[in-house]
Amino acid sequence: MPWNEEFECMPVGKLQKFQLEKLKETAAWVYAKIPFYKQKFDEQGITPDDIKNLEDVAKLPMTVKNDLRDNYPFGLCAVPLKEVVRVHASSGTTGKPITGPYTKEDLAQWTECMCRNIWAAGIRKEDVVQNAYGHGLFTGGLGFHQAVTAMDCTVVPTSAGMTERQITLLQDFGSNVLFCTPSYALTIAERAEEMKVDIRSLPVRVGVFGAEPWTVQMRQEIEERMGIKAQEAYGLTELCGPGVAYDAADQNGLYINEDHFLAEVVDPQTLEPLPLGEKGELIFTSLQRRAMPMIRYRTKDITRLWREPGHNGRTFVRMDKIYGRSDDMLIISGVNVFPSQIEALLLEIEEVEPQYRLIVRKKGYLDQLIVQVEGKSEVYEAGDKRRYEIEGKIAAHIKGMLGISVEVELVEAKFIARSEGKALRVVDERPKQLR
Ligand code: ADP
Repeated sequence: MPWNEEFECMPVGKLQKFQLEKLKETAAWVYAKIPFYKQKFDEQGITPDDIKNLEDVAKLPMTVKNDLRDNYPFGLCAVPLKEVVRVHASSGTTGKPITGPYTKEDLAQWTECMCRNIWAAGIRKEDVVQNAYGHGLFTGGLGFHQAVTAMDCTVVPTSAGMTERQITLLQDFGSNVLFCTPSYALTIAERAEEMKVDIRSLPVRVGVFGAEPWTVQMRQEIEERMGIKAQEAYGLTELCGPGVAYDAADQNGLYINEDHFLAEVVDPQTLEPLPLGEKGELIFTSLQRRAMPMIRYRTKDITRLWREPGHNGRTFVRMDKIYGRSDDMLIISGVNVFPSQIEALLLEIEEVEPQYRLIVRKKGYLDQLIVQVEGKSEVYEAGDKRRYEIEGKIAAHIKGMLGISVEVELVEAKFIARSEGKALRVVDERPKQLR
């Protein structure tokens, strides 16, 4: 299944007409089929007929993760279970898992969205693809699997973990494509170095990485260490999984599959819609899903939307790489900081590895941020004096760029647990009531 030129390059006016038609259908569908939405619409005094243009989406109620938890497992499902052909669940990184049921049609649409993503990364039928996203309830593994299968690629479904075997298979099967989270790509690169395998000389030429925030600097690090191009996938279980947005060969923003998902950006405090170009929280309404449609789902992901003619004539609206999740935003001495900002600065420091962890503690009334980062072995082993010097250098760099004082702890190799899926970057040690 190749890309869908008709939709991906559709003139914007025509695309928005299509979106309006699908938005009306979705609103009518949830109003008729899901008591939770009917009640919310009624409370707001609106009906699906009140949607006359795309901006009217702002009249609809928002949905949050807790609504999905409260309706666990199938309270938000619009079809009887016998019409559901697959159920995924989120990794539950932020609490109880939420479910994602699909009808056969939903599954076919998801596959198509993923094919667009994979095609845009330059992957074709002839490629041998090693899929190291976790296979199972997590949407990553099967989401990618079904698309590369539909594209007739040669698929090696390794799932995540057993890193040495990943490397051996990359060598033995000559895989030229790798799918996994960016943090796992780094783990693989590092393990290959330890095994004295020159990963840069292997046939692998491109990776499609996603499922967690990663900076442009992290992308460059992975590209250099592995000698590949690092493309991106973005998505969430609540909408289908990966395949919501993806970048193309020019790596200039992520195209949102707009015929399936209507995107808005709102001010995370006031929830007022923001114009294109302004940074805020990303909100999605699904436009074609049947089993579990989503109305104005608050992703908590912070980005900016923009529209200009895209790669190979693509017209979809684009989003910047996610800056971070609003949940992960730290307020240090009154300054808002995302972990990604610290990551970008750490990756500019030559003497450290791209392995870090942020610990937040209370010191009196103030929040204190401790940045733990692994020193390169020669630096760490050079003794205390050299270590303090580097810690001071990093703290000064962060103070200079972000205006916040942090404590830096240079730690030894392998101090930070290696990731096979989503990396744990922030450890919040503050009492719950003080966060
Ligand atoms: P969970 O919330 O349990 O981790 P998901 O696996 O559905 O469930 O994760 C979805 C979230 O993962 C997104 O809302 C976003 O925060 C993050 N994510 C997914 N892809 C990307 C990406 N390419 N860049 C940044 N964050 C991403």
